Amino acid sequence: MSLAFTPLMKKRLTRRASEMIEQALRHFPELQGKRITVGYTRAHLGSASMSYRAGQISRLIIRLKVRNLTYQTIGHELTHLVQGLSRGDRLARSSAARERIPSGETQCDIWTLARHPLFCDDPPTYLRLPRRVREQWPDYAESVRNLCTAAIEKRQSHRLYIRWLELEIRQLPRRLPDQKPGEQLTLPFASA
Ligand SMILES: [Zn+2]
Repeated sequence: MSLAFTPLMKKRLTRRASEMIEQALRHFPELQGKRITVGYTRAHLGSASMSYRAGQISRLIIRLKVRNLTYQTIGHELTHLVQGLSRGDRLARSSAARERIPSGETQCDIWTLARHPLFCDDPPTYLRLPRRVREQWPDYAESVRNLCTAAIEKRQSHRLYIRWLELEIRQLPRRLPDQKPGEQLTLPFASA
C-alpha cells in the first residue's frame, strides 16, 4: 500500500496525524496494494472520493483535517473507499456480495465502528445516538460497537437492521445507568 500526500497536506501534516493514518490503514486489508492520496481539509468532516479513467478506478482520495483528528474520522473515510471499490468492481460484487459494505453514510458509520475498537475513539456522525450516549461516549463505545457487529450479522436476514440497531442503542442508557459524579465521594470508606 502506498500513501501519497497532497502538497497542502504535506505542509500541514504532523507526525501524530501521519502515524494515525498508517495505523488506521493496517485495519483495512481491502486497501492493500492500493495507492491512496491524502489531502487536507479544514472542514470538521473529512471526505472521500475516487477518480476514474477509462472506467477503471485510477485514484483513491481522502481528505482529512489535522487538528483533533480522530481514528473515527480516518476510518469513516477509508470505509467510503471500500464502499466505492466494491461498487466499481464487478468481481467483488459476485464473489463476496455478503461481505460487501452497502453504500450510505449510516452504513459507513456502522461498518467503521464494527471494524476495530481503534475506530471508536469518537462518536460517529450519522448513526443516530441518544444525547447521553453521544455526550458520554467513552462509557458507551464498546456497547455500541458490539451492537454494530450484531447489526451486520442481522442484515443477512433483516432488511431493517439499521432501524433495529438504532432502537437497541436507544435502550443503552437504561441498561447502563448514569454514574453520578458525586456518588463515589460519598462512599463511607472513601476517606478512610
Ligand atoms: Zn461520510
